[in-house]
Amino acid sequence: ESKARGRGNFTLFVDEMDARYLERQRLKADLRAAVDSHGITVVYQPMFTPDGRKLACCEALARWHHPEKGPIAPNIFIQIAEEMGIVTDITHQVLQKACADCRTWPESIGVSVNLSVQDLRQGDLASTVEKILTNAGLPAARLHLEVTESSLIEELSAARDVLEQLRSLGITISIDDFGTGFSSLSYLDTLPVDVVKIDRSFVRNIGEDARRLKLLRGIVSLTRGLDIGIVVEGVETREQLALIKKHNCADLIQGYVFSTPIATHAVKGLAEEASLHGLSGHAGVA
Ligand code: C2E
Ligand code: MG
Ligand code: MG
Ligand code: MG
Repeated sequence: ESKARGRGNFTLFVDEMDARYLERQRLKADLRAAVDSHGITVVYQPMFTPDGRKLACCEALARWHHPEKGPIAPNIFIQIAEEMGIVTDITHQVLQKACADCRTWPESIGVSVNLSVQDLRQGDLASTVEKILTNAGLPAARLHLEVTESSLIEELSAARDVLEQLRSLGITISIDDFGTGFSSLSYLDTLPVDVVKIDRSFVRNIGEDARRLKLLRGIVSLTRGLDIGIVVEGVETREQLALIKKHNCADLIQGYVFSTPIATHAVKGLAEEASLHGLSGHAGVA
C-alpha cells in the first residue's frame, strides 16, 4: 500500500513540476511578445545631494506589466530575459527611452541605465550606445551606465575593454550593488570606475546596530581615497539619512526617503521643488 501511495505522490510531484515548467514557458513567451512590441516601460528613481536640494541624476528602471498577472518585478523578468538570451534587446529599449526622456529634463540632470552581464559580452556595445546617444541628441556626459559588481567579476577581461571604450565616449561608469560581490576590491584601482553605488544591505540597520554603521563608514573611507563618487542606495528613513549626512557617507542619496521611482514627466517638477524648498525626507518607510 505504501508503495502505491509513494508512486501516487511521485506522480503528483511530476505533475507539479510540469505545471511550473509550463508556467515558466508561458512567461517566457509573454516576455518575448512584450519585448517585441516594445511593451517594457521605464520609470526613474532620482538621486539627490544629501541636503535634498539638488536632483543630480535619475536611474532608469524597467517595468513589465503582464496582461493577466499584473506587474512582474524586474529582478524576475530580467533573469528570465538573461536565460532566454534577449536581455540585450531590453537594454537597448531602455537606453533609447532613457536617453530620449533625459533630453526633456533640465540639462543638469543625468540618466543612469543598468547593464546586464550579457551586454558586457557584446563587442559592439560602445558603438551601439554611441548610436543611441546620437539618435537621441543626448551628450554622452549625461549618460551613466551601471554594471553590477558580480557581473564585473564574472566578465572581468571583457568588461575592462568595453568599459574603457564607453568611458572614452564621456560616459560615467558606476558599480552597482557595491559590496555584495565578495571581490578583493583591488579591481577598483585597475578598472575605469567613476562611481560606486553602495548596496542597500549596508544601510538597512545603521540606526540600530553600531557595527553596521561602522561597516558602511569603512566602505566609504576605502573608496574616498580612490577619488570615486559615492551613491548610497536604499535610504528609507530620516534617521538613516541623518546618520549618512553626519558621517559624510555619500555624495548622492537614492532611496525612498527622498523619492520612489517616478514617471519621466514628474522629474522636472521634483527637481524644482528640491531646489526651491529642499526635500527633508519622508519620516518612515515608504
Ligand atoms: P538596482 O539597479 O540596484 O536598482 C535599485 C532597486 O532598489 C530598484 O528596484 C529600486 O526601486 C529599489 N530601491 C530604491 N530605493 C529603495 C529603498 O529606499 N528601499 C527599497 N526597499 N528599495 C529601494 P527595482 O526597480 O525593483 O529593480 C530591481 C533590480 O532589477 C535593479 O536593482 C536592477 O538590478 C534590475 N533592473 C531594473 N531595471 C533594469 C534594466 O533596465 N536592465 C537591467 N539589466 N536590470 C534592471
Ligand atoms: Mg542599478
Ligand atoms: Mg543597485
Ligand atoms: Mg540592487
